[in-house]
Amino acid sequence: MNSEFLTSATKEGEYPEADRPEVVVVGRSNVGKSSFINAFTNRKKLAYVGNTPGKTQLINFFMIDGAWYLVDVPGYGYAKLSKAQIAKLGRMMDEYFLKRKNLTCVVQLVDARHDPSKDDMEMVDFFKEMHIPIVAVATKIDKIPKTKRINHLKKISQKLQIPLAHIFAVSSTEKIGFEQVEEELQKRIEQ
Ligand code: GDP
Repeated sequence: MNSEFLTSATKEGEYPEADRPEVVVVGRSNVGKSSFINAFTNRKKLAYVGNTPGKTQLINFFMIDGAWYLVDVPGYGYAKLSKAQIAKLGRMMDEYFLKRKNLTCVVQLVDARHDPSKDDMEMVDFFKEMHIPIVAVATKIDKIPKTKRINHLKKISQKLQIPLAHIFAVSSTEKIGFEQVEEELQKRIEQ
């Protein structure tokens, strides 16, 4: 897979032209979003890992195979941001999700170990209301014993009310699960 950083944006005028399908990756701070993007694109530093959570407050656009855009948006749920900062990020995200016409689906990351958080549930509800298709990805699956993994995924499916077939498990440290995610995203992009 060929991937390159294109641009960062805070508002619509700064987005790249909406001339290709787009997939956006969302999740709470520390869920493993940067690690996911780096492992998915097979690049060590495309997205910067181990930031002070919440520090990355821009919408980052990447070009994949010259064919589609992968978008990294700020992680949510980082308590140390001020109310004003959170409100500003909220407006930035609302604008993105309302205006971005080429958005094909959202990759909702959740931590495989835990039940989805209240914030995760609110995000998923928002995408459902907006009729944005959701692919859910459970991160850090390496931290769960193999025999227990399916139960965690079933629980996530139940909580988020997303079919099990639309839930994938990955480990960025062990590099597992990414081919399946890529296949699913290709399907969605080609639709
Ligand atoms: P972000 O804040 O969502 O971008 O999360 P990061 O990608 O920066 O990861 C947060 C922390 O989780 C870091 O310490 C990562 O090394 C760790 N991490 C990320 N993905 C995995 C994974 O698949 N397995 C394990 N064991 N740790 C991970």
